[in-house]
Amino acid sequence: MIKAVIGSKAFIEARIIRVTIWNEFVAERTDPEVANIYPKGIHYALAEGLAPYGLRIRTATLDMPEHGLTEQVINDTDVLIWWGHLAHEEVDDLVVECVYQKVLQGMGLIVLHSGHFSKLFQRLMGTTCQLRWREANEREILWVVDPSHSITEGLGHYIELQQEETYGEFFDIPAPDELIFVGWFQGGEVFRSGCTFYRRRGKIFYFQPGHETHPTYYNKEILLVIANAVRWAASPHGAEPVFGNAKPLE
Ligand code: ZN
Repeated sequence: MIKAVIGSKAFIEARIIRVTIWNEFVAERTDPEVANIYPKGIHYALAEGLAPYGLRIRTATLDMPEHGLTEQVINDTDVLIWWGHLAHEEVDDLVVECVYQKVLQGMGLIVLHSGHFSKLFQRLMGTTCQLRWREANEREILWVVDPSHSITEGLGHYIELQQEETYGEFFDIPAPDELIFVGWFQGGEVFRSGCTFYRRRGKIFYFQPGHETHPTYYNKEILLVIANAVRWAASPHGAEPVFGNAKPLE
């Protein structure tokens, strides 16, 4: 028994996690303020920031054929990271369906910031995923409310961001399976900023920080959270269930 446990642990540690970072890559090419912060795109900044964590990282963007999310890419992805804002409606329904099915089968998914309003996240949540917001360059404190969760490993009690877009409740999501961070903003709002959801075998983490006019994805603690979340989401949840016609036991 002990041997089996050691064996499986060695397997987990030896496996290199395959990450695909998807970004619509629109504002960085149309808005000089955003281009100044992310000249090569949010996906590029995330890929560079996550590079020290020993992951195998590729990026994909909206303008690529099938948005860079071909069946081959999806089948070669353990965890998909998603950033979108201006172009949610331009994402092809067939691509959304393909990714949705893959999440149910066990691909991990990390939805960042305005990705809350993506077709994919709405489909997985089954709700509108609307929220309240304000662009006022306010200070944010992200409180760790589940310090035992692996997503918060290496953090203190909170992460402080000098400027972020304000997101506030009510956030129209189902009750999260785990609430990891609660964000507080200078203007008074609170927000469920870090939430996990289990959808069949897929593990999903929603993480609020990352407005495109702030350098949030260069923040080492934010990158640590995303790297921790990648590791958490990389292994599918439980076993594949059996569906269909069932014979009686006796
Ligand atoms: Zn935003």
